[in-house]
Amino acid sequence: MKSDIQIAQAAEMKEIREIAADLGLDESDLELYGKYKAKIKLTALKREYKKSAGKLVLVTAITPTPAGEGKTTTTVGLGQALNRLGKKAVIAIREPSLGPTMGIKGGAAGGGYAQVVPMEDINLHFTGDIHAIGVAHNLLAAAIDNHIKQGNELRIDPTKITFKRVVDMNDRALRETVIGLGGSKNGQPREDGFQITVASEVMAILCLANDLMELKEKLGKIVIGYNYNGESVTAADLNVAGAMTALLKDAIKPNLVQTLENTPAFIHGGPFANIAHGCNSIMATKLALGLGEIAVTEAGFGADLGAEKFYNIKSRFANLNPDAAVLVATIRALKMHGGVELAELEQENLAALEKGISNLEKHLENMAKFGVPVVVAINKFPTDSEAEINLVRKKCEKIGVEVALSEVWEHGGQGGEELAKAVIKLLENKKSKFKFLYNVEQPIKDKISKIAREIYGAVGVNYSEKALQQIKQYQKQGYNNLPICMAKTQSSISDNPALKGRPSGFKISVKSINLSAGAGFLVVMTGPVLTMPGLPKTPAAEAIDIDENGKISGLF
Ligand code: ADP
Ligand code: MG
Repeated sequence: MKSDIQIAQAAEMKEIREIAADLGLDESDLELYGKYKAKIKLTALKREYKKSAGKLVLVTAITPTPAGEGKTTTTVGLGQALNRLGKKAVIAIREPSLGPTMGIKGGAAGGGYAQVVPMEDINLHFTGDIHAIGVAHNLLAAAIDNHIKQGNELRIDPTKITFKRVVDMNDRALRETVIGLGGSKNGQPREDGFQITVASEVMAILCLANDLMELKEKLGKIVIGYNYNGESVTAADLNVAGAMTALLKDAIKPNLVQTLENTPAFIHGGPFANIAHGCNSIMATKLALGLGEIAVTEAGFGADLGAEKFYNIKSRFANLNPDAAVLVATIRALKMHGGVELAELEQENLAALEKGISNLEKHLENMAKFGVPVVVAINKFPTDSEAEINLVRKKCEKIGVEVALSEVWEHGGQGGEELAKAVIKLLENKKSKFKFLYNVEQPIKDKISKIAREIYGAVGVNYSEKALQQIKQYQKQGYNNLPICMAKTQSSISDNPALKGRPSGFKISVKSINLSAGAGFLVVMTGPVLTMPGLPKTPAAEAIDIDENGKISGLF
């Protein structure tokens, strides 16, 4: 089997103008970034939004192994397969961050014969959106320290500033810094730190804004810290929301590319899946719904996090009505949930597989609570045995859920036809009765408890003193009616990564609750979350190279 980049470089791409024309877009709707990438103008967005006739399919997954279970691969492959079957499918996924690209091996552009292209561009800077987001973010950071230096009219307490700086690289040395050293001409020294750009609240906001003016409004609401009276200080108070939005004038426009089989794909925005909601932009999803018959999109992490937030946060803000969900499962991950060590996942083990299906069952029960019909996609790995695949099929039939084998990684769209047919059948025969899990007006603790008990299967929630204090404060300041963004390990349905399968009898521990007033949610922290990753001992960067003709190698 060829490597991902070898497959991608051999792709026969169409000019992006052709892809756009097939979608019904006019050339005047496009801002071309070379031959194979284009941004879609805001005027076209406004027009297409109104149609929104497409069906919305969410791709989510069971609790993953550290390698990922193939949501992006399945999303891309399903789009290709639907197109093969004559359906006008449009894909909407996130943009990769340079941190993981240079850090750990593992793409964000699909894999095997289910990839989006040009993959080198998509993985390296793309159309510059993430850089623009970084600069917009850092403008606000600079404005904070400048304001303090220029007399601090807002009486910002330098020890209570929560808004850090960002850079799009895995650079652990920047996690904790001291700024303003070198005397009073350089401002006032204070402790600060860096996050990776995709962890920026600006990224979350870009992905949750329905249009440019809403983007500006939400940026203005970012709380950067507190004044000496303990009152919140916002980006609007510092008067830079307009300039931040101006810096995002192009980043806000969805990027159009194609898959290996020329299926249109919007790649736009890429917020963290723990401290943010982990989905591509609302604008890209709505555009896909306006232009396509079926929009296929993905949410980060397992369904306990990704799908829950897709439904309770993104769908709420965008007024979406998801029509169907694909729950990606792998034999490997199911065996892990049945107790098999990572090193032994390649060996057939029917007993462990059967046991591990408890994880799949819990996710299916959870999905039913949102009223969206589900099909299980078995993402086939080369090491899966016939007997193992048959066992999962039988189990699904017994549970009464649609199941399909997906071989898109090995065979592209052709390998996804069984899945595509199952999705079409679901869309035609089962009406979605989509509903939120909670009402935002409920007290903060009730919302958290609902997620913990109903989705995670916890028996209760423990709060730290700090978290209880924060809940009181947010209620007093008028931030009660926000949806909840859970920051939790993706390695377990519980908040303990060691608990595999379907954990029970545990309590969720809430350590603290952070306010993302701009994005419009409360981030509930159940454990430490790294918002600035580090590079591993041998970074992926060491394998990446370029030759005299500009040909890139070693990107996955
Ligand atoms: P996710 O979106 O769930 O994180 P990805 O689709 O990015 O997962 O896949 C994670 C990694 O696994 C990628 O490197 C991808 O190429 C690989 N992969 C996905 N599906 C398969 C498969 N069926 N066989 C082999 N490798 C796969
Ligand atoms: Mg993915």
